Amino acid sequence: MKKTVQDVDLKNKKVFVRCDFNVPVDDDGAITDDRRIRAAVPTIRYLMEQGAAVILASHMGRPKGKPDMKYSLQPVADRLAEILEADVQFVSEPEVVGPQTKAAAEALAPGSVMLIENVRFREEETKNEPGFSKELAGLADPFVNDAFGTAHRAHCSTVGIADYLPAVSGFLMEKEIRFFGDLLEDPKKPFTAVLGGSKVADKIPLIENLLDKVDTILIGGGMAFTFVKAQGNEIGTSLLDSDSLQLSLDIMEKAKAAGVDFLIPQDVVCAKEFNNDSPASVHAVTDMPADEMGLDIGPATSEIYRQKIMESATVVWNGPMGVFEMDNFAAGTKAVAAAMNDSDAVTVIGGGDSAAAVRKFDMEEGISHISTGGGASLEFLEGKVLPGVACLDEK
Ligand code: AMP
Repeated sequence: MKKTVQDVDLKNKKVFVRCDFNVPVDDDGAITDDRRIRAAVPTIRYLMEQGAAVILASHMGRPKGKPDMKYSLQPVADRLAEILEADVQFVSEPEVVGPQTKAAAEALAPGSVMLIENVRFREEETKNEPGFSKELAGLADPFVNDAFGTAHRAHCSTVGIADYLPAVSGFLMEKEIRFFGDLLEDPKKPFTAVLGGSKVADKIPLIENLLDKVDTILIGGGMAFTFVKAQGNEIGTSLLDSDSLQLSLDIMEKAKAAGVDFLIPQDVVCAKEFNNDSPASVHAVTDMPADEMGLDIGPATSEIYRQKIMESATVVWNGPMGVFEMDNFAAGTKAVAAAMNDSDAVTVIGGGDSAAAVRKFDMEEGISHISTGGGASLEFLEGKVLPGVACLDEK
């Protein structure tokens, strides 16, 4: 078990907290979705209440290793101050840890909060170079990692800094580790994985790692058509990952050998063009028109997948069932979101598109955990070691 903020002495300590404040901003620099800021608040409030001086850091966007005020964290500081209803001192220096930042950190009073500038203004950050890690570590003691969204990257502010300071998880990180850890180590059975998205190749390591853990795998999205084709059906102009045809057959064989119920769509919603205005119709996968593409799972498949989800005690979902961004091809993804929402199972959604989908359909309420990290949750489920988790101290 990894240590958390509750396992270290915080009173009168300067605490460096790596958050994931990588929020979307519009052309005027206004934050369009502050969910990631809100997700960090429980840890920040706890540290304030414990009498720590809280020094926050994050990356935002891709400033390419040099200062670019388009990616300044100023809007994050402003929004965080509104949410906390407390002052958030923001210090912006091109070198990120410059004289003003050091002085401000030194002077920061217990219970107060400051935010340093975008750590990716320094090119050393993404290279995990010890020099910058030391500079960051010099600001505080201990280090709290609450940035699950970047836990799959070994950078100075997520991993390197842990070489110099005691390292513990924040509440958000702790929750992510708990849910994904339970999925892999101690899932309540029956355990179903719902997998979609566009490319089979992207999901192969995930499927391989889940095969000895799950009872059922439900396949949808663009990737389903490679499986459909591998079984000898024609798929019209649907997405095809031709390099993965043999791999798809192998996976289905392995699933069979492992006793996993591996379901691919029986019916699909097809259209001539990748366009919401293109007339849509439902076809069996054995009878897809040669000049049309499959853009969603069909109603019969949605119903089967719903049943499977309702019969499960644990469900993890990664990747949409169709082009949910277009209303005519959203029904399959919506059906899965609704089933997860309605089910009493432990329901976990990897971040990214599936998380966006449940939000779009306003079905977050009944979901046990919606991850804040798309890439990180995928790597966790693939069984990879996440450097931002591995670097934390053991209890
Ligand atoms: P990924 O980026 O691999 O997670 O795939 C997510 C994207 O796949 C979403 O933007 C969906 O719109 C898209 N998608 C889902 N189903 C299909 C499909 N049948 N054909 C083409 N794209 C799809």
